[in-house]
Amino acid sequence: MCLGAYKVNKERTAGFPAWKWGLLAGVIGLAAVGAAAGIRDRQNEGGRAMVMGDASEEGAPSGNMAGENEDTETKKIALTFDDGPHPRYTEELLDGLAKRKVKATFFLLGQNIEGREEIIKRMAQEGHLIGNHTYYHVDITQLPQKEACREILDTSEKITAITGQPVEYIRPPFGNWDKELEYEVMMLPIFWSVDTLDWTTKNEDQIVQKVVTKIEENDIILMHDSYDSTVKAALRIIDLLQAEGYEFVTADELILE
Ligand SMILES: [Zn+2]
Repeated sequence: MCLGAYKVNKERTAGFPAWKWGLLAGVIGLAAVGAAAGIRDRQNEGGRAMVMGDASEEGAPSGNMAGENEDTETKKIALTFDDGPHPRYTEELLDGLAKRKVKATFFLLGQNIEGREEIIKRMAQEGHLIGNHTYYHVDITQLPQKEACREILDTSEKITAITGQPVEYIRPPFGNWDKELEYEVMMLPIFWSVDTLDWTTKNEDQIVQKVVTKIEENDIILMHDSYDSTVKAALRIIDLLQAEGYEFVTADELILE
């Protein structure tokens, strides 16, 4: 069980607001759907699967609905970057994001944190969302729960020590998530709906093409900030899609809406 490890983490994250605990309890059922969706998307590459149920129904512009006061014009999407931070490419990416006033989401590996604290501090200061991607990039479902907890909580602790903020979201490596862990670690999983496969192709043009031809509003795009090709592609994607009216938000905005 996580409890021993969690106590340490809980003290650090005492500021986690009560309404979010309620939210966590409320969406746990939906998160299970999301877990299945994430896995389906991996198996059926090119398929579309949303994170928390079918967001296209709730998130779609509401047309002529009278009294609708929300901003239905903006099409929101989220860029997410796993496996970092990288000592060189993450900073290049942060420079490009800052220039374009775009917020992104970074799911960090615990093993990549040491020596890169300044990069992580900068992510937080510039308004990006920082999530957990386990310590050693493990398949959480293949580990005894105690080890799985350690993978997650050790990573969160390292991040919190740098940013002063609790870590509320996890992207489980390979999209494999154990729903029971949500209660244990008090974190929500965030999956993806578009897999760029940037780490296999390392081809800037292919990554750009794949995203701009497939994109729909509320999509969560999976990339890795460990490659020059990914950084260049991500910035081109932003320029192209901003021109089409898309707004780039942190991934929590899309799953919590
Ligand atoms: Zn990964």
